[in-house]
Amino acid sequence: AKESGRNTYTFYTTEITHTLFEKMLMENELRRAIDAQEFTLFYQPQIDMRTGKMMGVEALARWEHSGMGIIMPDKFIPLAEGTKLIIPIGRQLLEIACVQTKAWVDKGLCGPTWKTAVNISAIQITHDDLYEAVHAITQKTGLDPHYLELELTETYIMQNPKVARALMDKLKKLGITLAVDDFGIGYSSLSYLKQFPLDRLKVDRSFIRDIPEDLDDMAITKAILALGKSLGLEVLAEGVEDAVQKEFLLSQGCFLAQGYFYAAPVPAATLEKPQEKFSW
Ligand code: C2E
Ligand code: CA
Ligand code: CA
Ligand code: CA
Repeated sequence: AKESGRNTYTFYTTEITHTLFEKMLMENELRRAIDAQEFTLFYQPQIDMRTGKMMGVEALARWEHSGMGIIMPDKFIPLAEGTKLIIPIGRQLLEIACVQTKAWVDKGLCGPTWKTAVNISAIQITHDDLYEAVHAITQKTGLDPHYLELELTETYIMQNPKVARALMDKLKKLGITLAVDDFGIGYSSLSYLKQFPLDRLKVDRSFIRDIPEDLDDMAITKAILALGKSLGLEVLAEGVEDAVQKEFLLSQGCFLAQGYFYAAPVPAATLEKPQEKFSW
């Protein structure tokens, strides 16, 4: 502010240019990584806490960069969405998830209700023909779509209710199931929610994190469980980290969970090794 208008202008210009330049470099890197097929999936178990049985997995994106090692999704998904490169990346990831799940099914590891849940960004839904992509990829890989679940966010569903509803109906006809991700932090209109062919709510981990210290979070979690029950939806708790949270959820009739208490996301091969807290 002490500098002249012109200097200030120059300063901002330089900074903006710098940011754009970095974004351009990153975008080129993303394009190269798509060609080099550097994107991969880790899998986090979804457990029936009553039995310790793995009912499915959530597939989570990782970038295995040739020089920089493993890059987490928070570091590249936002730019991939901003540049729409999430579309080709999302298709690659969906195919990887289907190939892997098919391999597990062929090994006899998956029960009839097994789900491999794949995250779908709003950009993929609005700018890609998601129905065509899911149909083509399940055909190509030979995976029965019943084993596939798509995780959508509240924001997308509520912003484009008509389009969302039509797409969801088509996807359901393929046999795939639909989950609402990060439930509770968006702007869901509850009256809307029941109009959609949803199968599952995933309680955002911010509500689970401070259980049992935070009484408000416990009340919200109970309310979401009651809502799910009255709408006939399955409810899965995300981010379960300890036995107290597990026992609270079980006492409230919530059986499905995901979280570090059971396992962090791991490569497919790791998941197949014997585990202490859950079984296939
Ligand atoms: P998300 O869909 O909510 O995924 C759950 C995140 O919580 C994962 O982070 C997971 O590693 C982490 N998590 C699981 N259990 C626990 C726990 O007990 N405690 C804590 N503190 N964290 C836990 P991750 O893998 O870093 O993914 C971050 C986000 O990136 C995802 O959040 C999702 O929004 C996005 N993402 C990941 N993979 C994909 C993808 O393939 N496509 C799209 N569009 N987005 C993705
Ligand atoms: Ca998710
Ligand atoms: Ca989530
Ligand atoms: Ca809290």
